[in-house]
Amino acid sequence: MHAAPLAPYAATEARSKGRRYEEPDARYRGQYQRDRDRIIHSTAFRRLVYKTQVFVNHEGDLYRTRLTHSLEVAQIGRSVAVALQLSEPLTEAICLAHDLGHTPFGHAGQDTLNACMRDYGGFEHNLQSLRVVDELEAKYADFPGLNLMFETREGILKHCSKKNAKMLGDVGERFLNRTQPGLEAQLADMCDAIAYNNHDVDDGYRAGLISLEQLREQPLFDTQYREVARRYPGLEDRRLIYEIIRRMINAVVTDLIETTKHNLDEAAPESIDEVRAAGRPLVGFSAEIGEQHRLLKQFLHSHLYSHEQKLEMTRKVQTVLRDLFETFMNDVNRMPSEFAAAAADGDDTARARVVADYIAGMTDRYAFAEHSRISG
Ligand code: MG
Repeated sequence: MHAAPLAPYAATEARSKGRRYEEPDARYRGQYQRDRDRIIHSTAFRRLVYKTQVFVNHEGDLYRTRLTHSLEVAQIGRSVAVALQLSEPLTEAICLAHDLGHTPFGHAGQDTLNACMRDYGGFEHNLQSLRVVDELEAKYADFPGLNLMFETREGILKHCSKKNAKMLGDVGERFLNRTQPGLEAQLADMCDAIAYNNHDVDDGYRAGLISLEQLREQPLFDTQYREVARRYPGLEDRRLIYEIIRRMINAVVTDLIETTKHNLDEAAPESIDEVRAAGRPLVGFSAEIGEQHRLLKQFLHSHLYSHEQKLEMTRKVQTVLRDLFETFMNDVNRMPSEFAAAAADGDDTARARVVADYIAGMTDRYAFAEHSRISG
């Protein structure tokens, strides 16, 4: 299939709000390709390989990590972007970067660090992803961070409190004036949910934490189950699950493309700025699939993410992160020298932010190793 030209409502370099620090154009790459390449070469991206998605890294080699999750999000995002004539490299860049700010140990890690930071402005992994690409990556001589394009940064910052938005300048404005982000950003957000809803079924089933019977109570799953069982009676479990999951992904992605096309026909935006001003997101599911998708997400929350076996691990990682936070807050010199130096002058709030940056950057196994080190 030949790629169609970009639609008028796609993000384009010509209409971009550009980079924070001006740079000469690359000779052989577009600006969004360049962003994607910078993300892939970042330190934070490489660390995703040892960060938890749902299962802590050492629980098994086959489970998704944050790296493989991000790749699956990007893969789905690219397909949908091309089908909707949107910018493929921008969509890919946003998808690959969306979890760069995630803590070790998945949501348990995020919640624990947020609790530690309660008196110091809190911790939110989505905001941290922006902080990583804007400030924390130290790679370029001329500027802090990766100096990404506005549209990439806009897509990375999926949600944000008003209080934080006020401090973020251009990229925070939409949370204050209630406008939408570009379509590539809306798309990346949906593809994140499509990816985890589906791969968590796979991982949860493999781990034996959710059963086929439970999954069959989910309409999204059961529709495909019945189809596969009818066509391939007696198919062994592993192949059965995979057939169902790939069909589920196909069904929701098809629905997403078709519903979004319909929304775009209706709203007929002629530029990315008209998308931003549309008053509602234009990328979305039909009511029926949206509801089934929401039910599956809810099911995974109550049956997988908060499974007793997972809660045990949650308690363990809470202790690890709390101990690390307390130790470094009390003695910044127990962190590596560049963090110790950054935390040395400044009030408690500034010190806590440096400690949070250090902890959030850790991989699962590094956090365990640091915990053993500080515990003697
Ligand atoms: Mg994600």
